Amino acid sequence: MSETIQSVKGMNDVLPDEGPAWEFFESTVRAWLRRYGYRQIRMPILERTDLFVRSIGEVTDIVEKEMFTFTDKLNGDVLTLRPEGTASCVRAAIQHNLLYAGPQRLWYAGPMFRHERPQKGRYRQFHQVGVEALGLGGPDIDAELIIMGARLWRDLGLADIALEINTLGDIDARARYRTRLIHYLEKHQDLLDGDARRRLHTNPLRVLDSKNPEMQAMIEGAPKLLDDLDEPSLAHFEAVQRLLRHAGVEYRINTRLVRGLDYYNRTVFEWVTTQLGAQGTVCAGGRYDGLITQIGGKAAPAAGFAMGVERLIALMAGGSASMPPLAPDVYLVWSGEAAELHAWRVAESLRDAGVDVTLHAGGGSFKSQMKRADGSGARFAVIIGDDEAAAGQVTLKPLRDQQEQTRVRAEDLPALVAR
Ligand code: ATP
Ligand code: MG
Repeated sequence: MSETIQSVKGMNDVLPDEGPAWEFFESTVRAWLRRYGYRQIRMPILERTDLFVRSIGEVTDIVEKEMFTFTDKLNGDVLTLRPEGTASCVRAAIQHNLLYAGPQRLWYAGPMFRHERPQKGRYRQFHQVGVEALGLGGPDIDAELIIMGARLWRDLGLADIALEINTLGDIDARARYRTRLIHYLEKHQDLLDGDARRRLHTNPLRVLDSKNPEMQAMIEGAPKLLDDLDEPSLAHFEAVQRLLRHAGVEYRINTRLVRGLDYYNRTVFEWVTTQLGAQGTVCAGGRYDGLITQIGGKAAPAAGFAMGVERLIALMAGGSASMPPLAPDVYLVWSGEAAELHAWRVAESLRDAGVDVTLHAGGGSFKSQMKRADGSGARFAVIIGDDEAAAGQVTLKPLRDQQEQTRVRAEDLPALVAR
């Protein structure tokens, strides 16, 4: 017996029962982005590996151990399945000179790939919706990106998502802080785990991001970036907070929030929930003013964020978010040779009128077909036998209430059902 082929580890099928949640999520997100004037951009899933090494940083988790990278057999190019969207989005904006036309508010959605240990809320293929504002440097944009998040959680019917913010300052401030932090971590060498030791001199800020419970006390006592911050970054951060307060968006300043990617400066933020266990960050982002030049574009400020779709959908499923049912309006049952052609005509005329119709397939008795009709969740069964076909009629049976079934003319049906 041959073994059945399974999906690749950490890569999930989204099954039809989960469809309504995904569709509700996607349509809500589209409407929300339109409301803020963001336009969609679609990038390839495969990029040159260099793009991510340069943008995400050589010693981040993602580049060190999470990328699906391979060599193109035909020409030797080294390619990577995108682990995130920001780098691709910025690459596309540079490649197509989008910023020549002025600042760009952009969004994208799609699968991302990271070779992580799969667990609840952490997969090797997962989906993000990303939002990027390119060419805009003011605190108003940071605030907009955060405030729009707050609205999306409301639109999705999600409560219990808290906002944490921090500022990383400018490049000099980060450098000053880095020196102080390395000094502190060196003094506590014995408390560092393997990852932290490795990062100590390459990317010490990432040590603060560690989820190892045994290191939390040591991390708590680490010097604070806040003390090294430059005056303009502090003023910027203050302005962001003023706008958040004005909009009534609650936040907590988390001075340990540094984010896993190298490209951030100034404002960083995360939306977190306590309802998903360890994988509680549903959305994260910040300002990345240096990235566009790093990827080879003309200097321009930028900021953005990305949300984890699987985590948000898990929150929706566990909560009270209302999902519109995905049932047809009509389930059409038929039996007989003349009935078949009539059924097809009736089904298409209903669809012409915008009615969702499932036309029974696979034959069977009226009784078994009616069971399918009930199970489909449809509002109506439309029944066609050779009788009805000969008379140019159909039998209309409401399935959701106790109303009697009636015989009506086929041409009157679309109006009756659409009503
Ligand atoms: P984490 O700390 O959970 O690893 P991250 O900092 O690596 O997250 P980002 O690169 O900022 O995550 O991605 C933005 C969002 O995408 C995360 O907040 C999360 O909701 C989601 N996400 C990231 N990695 C995964 C994954 N492997 N599986 C599912 N969702 C993910
Ligand atoms: Mg990660």
